Amino acid sequence: MEIRILGGGMEVGKSAINLQGGKVNILMDYGAMIAEGKPEFPQHISPKEIDVIILSHAHLDHSGGIPLLYITERPKLITTQLTAEISELLIQDFIHLSGYYLPYEHLELKTMLSSVTPIFFREQIKIKNAKVRALNAGHIPGSIMCLIEVDGRKVLYTGDINNIETRLLRGAPKKLPKLDAIIMEGTYATTDHADRKKTEKEFVTAIREVLNREGTVLVPAFSVGRAQEILCILEAYKISAPIYLDGMARKASRIMLRHSKYIKNYKLFNRAHERAKWITGWSQRKKACKKPGIIVSPAGMLKGGTAVFYMKRLARNERNAIFLVSYQIPGTPGRILLESGIYNFGRRSEKVKAEIGWFDFSSHSGRRELIEIIEKNKIKKVILVHGEGEALLKLGEELRDRRLAEDVIVAKNGEEIRV
Ligand SMILES: [Zn+2]
Ligand SMILES: [Zn+2]
Repeated sequence: MEIRILGGGMEVGKSAINLQGGKVNILMDYGAMIAEGKPEFPQHISPKEIDVIILSHAHLDHSGGIPLLYITERPKLITTQLTAEISELLIQDFIHLSGYYLPYEHLELKTMLSSVTPIFFREQIKIKNAKVRALNAGHIPGSIMCLIEVDGRKVLYTGDINNIETRLLRGAPKKLPKLDAIIMEGTYATTDHADRKKTEKEFVTAIREVLNREGTVLVPAFSVGRAQEILCILEAYKISAPIYLDGMARKASRIMLRHSKYIKNYKLFNRAHERAKWITGWSQRKKACKKPGIIVSPAGMLKGGTAVFYMKRLARNERNAIFLVSYQIPGTPGRILLESGIYNFGRRSEKVKAEIGWFDFSSHSGRRELIEIIEKNKIKKVILVHGEGEALLKLGEELRDRRLAEDVIVAKNGEEIRV
């Protein structure tokens, strides 16, 4: 079979992979690159040629270009029911924020959603001469890896993957079927994560210290996954202070609460959401800032969202704390805050008086886990995508040097690879 990298080669953003073999033509993901101003999309593919689109998960760097393929055609879309519903939420928001630059509208999103054939973990669907199987990817609720078998050859596309267990999700399976090739993400190709339990404990200890001094903690968190995981951690450690949930995270939580089978410990998840106070308006928002407590609110990198309001209320008091819980892209307000302690309050930038912390609750496998996938499963052909170019090259080199794979390709956009 032939694999074409349409996007996500030596970059994080606009992931898209085309696989052709025998009579079948499959597209896996078709994302958007969310840059300042105009979003970018993967290389062109004609929807007429595609037998099926498989969506690994709802993040816009994987889903944001899919409505483009529903302007004139209606290709079948395979994904989990939960991913379909979260994609609707994220793409709607994308249209709302960047609509002016987007070559599609709500109508195309609607057509896309009406073309979904849901799949669940370990389930298999036949498309012409291909078998498509979904495997848990452990990245965000509903995320899958796609295992494709065409004429006896097997390829796995990881999408975004996390193979360690978190409070929210089971990890992706470590033991994989025998593969001819793997198309693997490498967001953290050169970075190892700290031990998860240790990070949780440090986070909870830091939170308790702030509460003890009667402060309020703002946890800016992504709406999908991270916000819910933070609630689960706070519930698991029995933090008794008031916990608030705000912004789009509420909508994402509402969707996830309807899909218990994707959540590792639904009892804990449900309890955490029952105990949290769901902010419904401005008066509640203001009240939440006045008493010791924890506010979980997007955006995760302080770029917009209700977290911006909370920053204005909380960041000027040393009793309070701002705890960032994800990777901060260079140039974002969150990254600037971490590096300089300075935040732009709108009219002017100021040194923040509140305590600033950063905790590595990643939803991607780190370097060690990525290498383990190749080593444990003895995969000979490795195609690396979805990472910063330099880092992917370094990981590729390490895999070759240690003779863990025979053939390692750090794929570029437009590259065609035969398997
Ligand atoms: Zn993702
Ligand atoms: Zn991604």
